[in-house]
Amino acid sequence: MPEGHALHRLARLHQRRYAGAPVAVSSPQGRFAAASTAVDNRVLQRATAWGKHLFHHYDGGSIVHVHLGLYGTFTEWIRSPDIAMPAPVGQVRMRMVGAEYGTDLRGPTVCELIDEAQVADVVSRLGPDPLRRDADPARPWARITKSRRPIGALLMDQTVIAGVGNVYRNELLFRHGIDPYRAGRAIGEAEFDAAWIDLVDLMKVGLRRGKIIATRPEHDHGAPSYGPGRPRTYVYRRAGEACRVCGTTIRTAELEGRNVFWCPTCQK
Ligand SMILES: [Zn+2]
Repeated sequence: MPEGHALHRLARLHQRRYAGAPVAVSSPQGRFAAASTAVDNRVLQRATAWGKHLFHHYDGGSIVHVHLGLYGTFTEWIRSPDIAMPAPVGQVRMRMVGAEYGTDLRGPTVCELIDEAQVADVVSRLGPDPLRRDADPARPWARITKSRRPIGALLMDQTVIAGVGNVYRNELLFRHGIDPYRAGRAIGEAEFDAAWIDLVDLMKVGLRRGKIIATRPEHDHGAPSYGPGRPRTYVYRRAGEACRVCGTTIRTAELEGRNVFWCPTCQK
């Protein structure tokens, strides 16, 4: 599933490519057809992200809310006034076409038309997003320090922090030597503060580079886990391989339905 940095990249891309001009919006598959006519040929004012949620704000107050979920993708096209968009392939939920670019959205968990009040409602259920300047770490800290739930589960809870997915969760805990099964209330305030600052930095790197890079340069070795496009990680999807720091075999287990990865020596 794309993590928060990927949604912020999409928001920036769509802002750059479509904002300030009318956009043709359609639903070749039909499931977004009625809603798409409400924004078709309206001016896109801006594209924003909060955690894993993407919002396209149109003139007139309508907003398209997208959550990609596990399978959703945008396919971006470059076009010109003389070159028509290719015929839609597969189940294209929403197609947006501007003067020079087009994009096809397939397989999202959510693609719906909402208003500003509903955006506020979506956001009110989310924790702060580390990539937003107004993000307040006091809110997740207040939740974590009172909780008996494992920190590995709390970090994946979008009502605690919005935008953290499985890669950032596992890597952040490794970088701070924290066992994913440690209870939230057993995390020290200084530990949390350091992890939050690091998370903001890691997600900014992801936003800038377009991929998650969690390894420090001195540990950035040890193929074969570096396939093209794969995140560069200490523990994520490295079960059975040697820890890049201490050589202990990386472990994996299921925690609330998602795989956690950790080094039993480095993380306490
Ligand atoms: Zn280790």
